[in-house]
Amino acid sequence: MRILVCNDDGISSKGIIELAKSMSRIGEVVVAAPDEERSAIGHAITLHKPLRIEPVKLHDVDIEAYSINGTPADCVKIGVDVIMKRKVDLVISGINRGPNLGTDVLYSGTVSAAIEGCILGIPSVAISLVSYKSDDFSYAGEVAVEVAQKLLEHGLPKGALLNVNVPAVPKEEIRGIKVARLGIRRYAETYIKRLDPRGRPYYWLTGEAIDTSQEDMQLDTDIFAVKENYVAVTPIHLDLTLYSFMDAVKEWFNKGQ
Ligand code: MN
Repeated sequence: MRILVCNDDGISSKGIIELAKSMSRIGEVVVAAPDEERSAIGHAITLHKPLRIEPVKLHDVDIEAYSINGTPADCVKIGVDVIMKRKVDLVISGINRGPNLGTDVLYSGTVSAAIEGCILGIPSVAISLVSYKSDDFSYAGEVAVEVAQKLLEHGLPKGALLNVNVPAVPKEEIRGIKVARLGIRRYAETYIKRLDPRGRPYYWLTGEAIDTSQEDMQLDTDIFAVKENYVAVTPIHLDLTLYSFMDAVKEWFNKGQ
């Protein structure tokens, strides 16, 4: 089995090395990841500058790896097409430093890499550790292997991928795996205004997730699951069409005709 490993934290992040190590237990791994951090870049791709593929030696492991001056979606596209010559059985992205829960999957480069795999017709998974501080990706690596094995055993519907979030607590405190829907992630966001050395104002977005609203914390959401120390597994799909509203919109345009 040939596995493409990608992320959005960059080729030298600890999470991707742990993921590559874990996945090498079940298949032949190739790492293709951005040369620097591209978190929150969403599904951007590079059209107006050349992309370069640089072979790199990963810290502490002997796994084929490439650094690319592009986005996570670029890395999967070029990784599948050029590096792996379209022979890829699984795309797995992560292990992200920090959660990718609820509506944040739309901003996430980690999830976008998996989405790109899905667009290319390859079974794909995104995996994140719910902490910006923890350096211990080992349990999340075990989860990645378990999820990949289940996925390859059972398959995924067309246009679907799995998004996985692992609480950053000791393994003994994990209560199990919960299949959960995406919640709604809200932030108390502020643009901090400062002055640059030339006296001109600039703005920097800052904010923390609010996890108190009852609506966001419904029991079946991924946000609630990780708060309760469950690993959250969410099947997501790419068809954003709101089928239940289509007839109503058709009516708008039929009126008076
Ligand atoms: Mn990231």
